Amino acid sequence: MFDFLIVGAGFAGCTLADCIATKLGRKVLIIDTRNHIGGNAYDYYDNAGVLVHRYGAHIFHTNSKKVIDYLSRFTQWRVYQHEVLAKLDGDLYPIPINLNTINKLYGLNLNSQELADFYDRVREKYDRIENSEQAVIGKVGKDLYNKFFKNYTYKQWELWPHELDASVCARIPVRTNKDNRYFGDKYQLMPLHGYTKMFEKMLSHPNIKLMLNTSFEEVQGWIKFDHLIYTGQIDRFFDYQFGKLPYRSLRFEFETHDTEYFQPVAVVNYPNDYDFTRIVESKHITGQKHSKTTIYHEYPEAEGDPYYPIPRPENRELFQKYKNAAANLQTVTFVGRLAQYQYYNMDQVVAAALTVFEDRISQL
Ligand code: FAD
Ligand code: UDP
Repeated sequence: MFDFLIVGAGFAGCTLADCIATKLGRKVLIIDTRNHIGGNAYDYYDNAGVLVHRYGAHIFHTNSKKVIDYLSRFTQWRVYQHEVLAKLDGDLYPIPINLNTINKLYGLNLNSQELADFYDRVREKYDRIENSEQAVIGKVGKDLYNKFFKNYTYKQWELWPHELDASVCARIPVRTNKDNRYFGDKYQLMPLHGYTKMFEKMLSHPNIKLMLNTSFEEVQGWIKFDHLIYTGQIDRFFDYQFGKLPYRSLRFEFETHDTEYFQPVAVVNYPNDYDFTRIVESKHITGQKHSKTTIYHEYPEAEGDPYYPIPRPENRELFQKYKNAAANLQTVTFVGRLAQYQYYNMDQVVAAALTVFEDRISQL
């Protein structure tokens, strides 16, 4: 008999398992269909001995001191500030678009004020920003939108930017200075020994039992518990009773090369060429020294593991139906990127799990 059953051993599940075990002293069973913990943040040493992220580059960044303080109980950190380049007509340009990008692309020598004036001249003025196309064109105009965003977005989502919420492309800032970093957050760090080592510590309390290779559907009815915490797809939990929520998937193609580094930075985006969106080289992110390197191409796919909720109005409406159904269940709590159908980063999932613990779970 367990007090809690947690479905999913990613950031949401592991945070709640730890809080329940250490702060409430109650017993938890955490299960996952996969053969490993960590959810999509899982990392491992491949056959060549290179530490890679199994499900795409995961860079930790947050403005929340609360989240950093919480995770610091399980890991030390390595300072890493992520930089991304976009390959356009054979040349590499910094992304997010900044002063370096514009001066190189157009052969100019603008300063920050002149770039602000430039953006103001080329951008379209909208009364309200309603989608991702307007979010970009409203800041940097059509030419930069066409070069860096339009086709990348179509490849990634199989939707044009005008079909997606503004928040999708607005994840990428636009700068007038020379800051080449992908993120602007105060804390940009990587777990010193990798994510999986951190998750092992999160689950190390004796009140926590772990079962891998096990789906909720397999154990439902067999295992007794008082409360369920569900971090998987919410539509699957309700047997798709209101219809399927769309998710976007990816295929990762890994290659090991007999060279120390393959590309100058961890991520190179290919907005207009090929079927993949980006090439990732983990060693830049992990800081590992190795004579070989492993890279992977990310190919967006319609079918496969559900990696991304797809932020657009009709999906939000459908999700709202599941959210209403979830609100009627007193003994089930839904939390995480799939369960809340939110395009959450890792820190947002940890913050959501800590809030759910404080507001709901600790009151049970
Ligand atoms: P998940 O990690 O998805 O964990 C859910 C777990 O539940 C899974 O392991 C799944 O197997 C299990 N599960 C689901 N249903 C069932 C079931 N019925 N029975 C049993 N088990 C089940 N965030 C950042 O902050 N920085 C980044 O750089 C970054 N890069 C990313 C790159 C990619 C390609 C992707 C896809 C995501 C990225 N993210 C990044 C987001 C990050 O992966 C998520 O925010 C975070 O991992 C979500 O944690 P979670 O616990 O909600 O879900
Ligand atoms: N995007 C783009 N061009 C780029 C980078 C991003 O068009 O060079 C758009 C694209 O729609 C992408 C979104 O911005 O899906 C968010 O990018 P991010 O890098 O945050 O995506 P993630 O790392 O979550 O896959």
